[in-house]
Amino acid sequence: MTRPSPDPAGPTGDRVRGVLLRFRQAHLFDYSPTTVRAWLAIAGAGLLAGLWALGCLAQHTPLDQGLVAAGLLLVAVAALFPLKIPGTITTVLVADAFIFTLLATLGAPAAILAAGVEGWIGALRSSKRLTSRVSAPTALMAAMAVCSAAHDALGYALVAWGLPPAAADLAALCASALVYVAVNTGLILGLMAIKRGQRLTLRDWLDASSSIASMSLGSAFLAGLLVLNAQRVGMSLIVLAVAVVLALLLLLRRSFARQTQDRAAQAAIVSQAQQDAALSQQRFSAAFNHAAIGMAVVDANGAVLQANQALCALVATSQDNQDSHGGLVGCAFSSLLHPGDAPLFQQQALATASHAEQAFSMELRCRPSQSSPDGDAGTDRWVVIHGSRYQAADGAGDCVIYQLHDITSRYLAERQLKHIAFHDDLTDLANRQCFHARLSVAVERSRLDAGQRFAVLFLDLDRFKVVNDSLGHNAGNILLRAVGLRLVQCVRPGDLVARLGGDEFAVLLEAVSDPSDALRLAQRVLSALSQPLAINGTEVMPGASVGVTFSDLGYRTVDEVLRDADLAMYEAKAGGRGQVALFDQSMHDKVAEKLALEGDLRRAIGEGQLSVHFQPLFELQPYRLTGFEALARWVHPQRGPVSPAVFIALAEESGHICALTDWVVDHAMAQLAEWKRSLPGTAHLGMHVNISGRDLGRPDLVSTVQAVLQRHAVSTGTLTLEITETTLMGRLDTALQAMGQLRALGVKFSIDDFGTGYSSLSYLGTLPIDSLKIDRSFVMGMHDKPQNVEIVRAVLTLGKSLGRKVVAEGIETPEQLATLREMGVHMGQGYLLSRPLRAEQVRDLLAVATGSGEVAATLPLPT
Ligand code: C2E
Ligand code: CA
Ligand code: CA
Repeated sequence: MTRPSPDPAGPTGDRVRGVLLRFRQAHLFDYSPTTVRAWLAIAGAGLLAGLWALGCLAQHTPLDQGLVAAGLLLVAVAALFPLKIPGTITTVLVADAFIFTLLATLGAPAAILAAGVEGWIGALRSSKRLTSRVSAPTALMAAMAVCSAAHDALGYALVAWGLPPAAADLAALCASALVYVAVNTGLILGLMAIKRGQRLTLRDWLDASSSIASMSLGSAFLAGLLVLNAQRVGMSLIVLAVAVVLALLLLLRRSFARQTQDRAAQAAIVSQAQQDAALSQQRFSAAFNHAAIGMAVVDANGAVLQANQALCALVATSQDNQDSHGGLVGCAFSSLLHPGDAPLFQQQALATASHAEQAFSMELRCRPSQSSPDGDAGTDRWVVIHGSRYQAADGAGDCVIYQLHDITSRYLAERQLKHIAFHDDLTDLANRQCFHARLSVAVERSRLDAGQRFAVLFLDLDRFKVVNDSLGHNAGNILLRAVGLRLVQCVRPGDLVARLGGDEFAVLLEAVSDPSDALRLAQRVLSALSQPLAINGTEVMPGASVGVTFSDLGYRTVDEVLRDADLAMYEAKAGGRGQVALFDQSMHDKVAEKLALEGDLRRAIGEGQLSVHFQPLFELQPYRLTGFEALARWVHPQRGPVSPAVFIALAEESGHICALTDWVVDHAMAQLAEWKRSLPGTAHLGMHVNISGRDLGRPDLVSTVQAVLQRHAVSTGTLTLEITETTLMGRLDTALQAMGQLRALGVKFSIDDFGTGYSSLSYLGTLPIDSLKIDRSFVMGMHDKPQNVEIVRAVLTLGKSLGRKVVAEGIETPEQLATLREMGVHMGQGYLLSRPLRAEQVRDLLAVATGSGEVAATLPLPT
């Protein structure tokens, strides 16, 4: 039979093991067995030291026990309020000073318990784990036990070595403080190293304990001094010191707390600023990377530091990896631009930097894209580039952020609009505005530098109206386009050909050395233009008159240039079509004089400088006076008599002719009425007055003439209006109505200068005409050119067949008169018969026969 061997530990042992197991699971779960053992060793050593201290204290006097309790209380208070130095991780343990004071005054038991109190309160504050709350105070108690032993031993030894007791005490206290720190930190650091499975090196130990050691050393030294002084002065010093230390503790705590608060506030500001900066950096990065426009950050040397995806897409070439915008980093920013625009950009960037300007913008092209390696204008990418400078934070100098906005489509649209605005749709040549703009640049350039010569050719097509009228508008347009094309083909590449409007063209020749170059080109243009051209099956010979002017005349405005070129063109036209004329000052003078004379004429009509001469008209068979032709005369106050050929043409051009006609008609009829009233035998006399083409178009001609006839009460058939053949045939449509109305008033009509125009014979019969006045050139040339006699005879035959009288003017010789009478010409006029006479001369002429009662019968036939 065997008896079960009893469990040596018994049920109590089980319970203890269970408690320990639960304790271990609850608190030492992450401790290896070695760590547990180390922890238990520390805890055990500390507890032993504490128990020993309590045991010792029990034997002390109640006074000492009270003092120890007071000391412990102070230590507890000091430990509750550690002084954390603001801005550091260092905490000053004032409690140490009390502990060393207790060591020096009340001995090791008090110091051990005080160390335990300090460690326990500190652990309560700094850790929640029971293990730490146990290990911290026990390690300190154990350390203090060792420290106390060292203090006593050193004290004896130093005194034995001959040091004075006070100094020995102080030195022993200081040295033992180092032992205290060394043991305490050694235990705790050792435990931690074991727990982590690491070795505690001397270096780590020294690093971790040196600051604590310094403070403990200081505390011990202070405590030593205090105790030494108290031995001399009395224990009241200690009380005072304690009070002072407590007060200091309070004040310092307050001050440190304030500083800590300030620092915390400052730290909060700094951290907020850092957060803001980070956020703004984040925002910038987001905006930069995902921006729809190209962006780049470029350093002071022009190298790309950062580029976004949009920029890469914008400037990508076939060599670039489009996906990585890092591909552009490091390359020169200007290399991303069109080679033609890069220098301008660099110039602008430099200028901006040198003027310390913050930003600049310009429009330019990016480097050619892969689709057009040669940068064909059609595929150029245009951008608005905006650069803003900023000072880089890392001292890298001025950096620039470039933004590139693709404006290609806007640019193309603008270019198209500009093209429309500056080109003629029919010929696609430059238009007047464009020509003006280019010419004004040329004018300005030559004003600044006379060596920058230019010439302008002003072309007006000859007979364009004929083509337009006879072949139609379309044919006219074809002709204009063909002319435009020929012009462009015969000028040099830099010259500008423009259509100014209608059938007017102009060419601007720049860089011409002298007028003869321009004239040669003008001749070339003329011969190119005059090549026949088939339009809708009809062969047309285009031709033009060209006026040329040259910059050496010192032009100041575009209008001056065009005016002179235009004048030269008119001169060319006047000289016969298909000619070139170079402008010279005389043309200008002529025009200026004409303009001055025109002004004078306007005044002359109003101021009575005009007069009328009367050239007698005779019936040739029988020979008798039948009336007069009123001829206007102008005696200019400065220039003297002005030829009617000059001033009548001027009046027609300027529109003053109507006023002149009104005045002549009125004056002549007034004169005739006066003669008729005062002189006998004049009742049958008539008055011829010349009217112009413009008069026929006037709406008030009929009423004016009617008023004159009524005013002077002359009989029907007295007034004959002379209209030249050319004028009448050019205005048949408008003339007919007025002529019909005037005829109804008893006004007669004579066709002047007959034979010089091309009368439509079929019309002639239907017109309300009374006489045909053969042009004086035929009469005067009758005896030199026999065909003139034939012409006169033909006119006479025509007149007879139509029932119209025929008048011959310009009769200067008796032979002419004889021939005309012989031929049966009804009436005549000429210097032979009478020169144009002033009114008083006419009166003398008429007075010769007042007695006879019949004026005409008394006049002798000139021989
Ligand atoms: P016209 O109507 O053919 O007038 C006749 C011109 O011949 C006048 O010149 C007259 O002086 C000139 N004449 C007359 N007999 C002879 C002659 O035997 N030999 C030569 N060589 N010439 C002769 P004038 O007065 O110089 O007038 C020139 C032209 O001016 C006129 O040509 C007429 O067209 C125009 N004219 C003159 N007065 C007026 C006017 O009051 N109104 C308009 N509309 N035109 C006028
Ligand atoms: Ca006449
Ligand atoms: Ca005439």
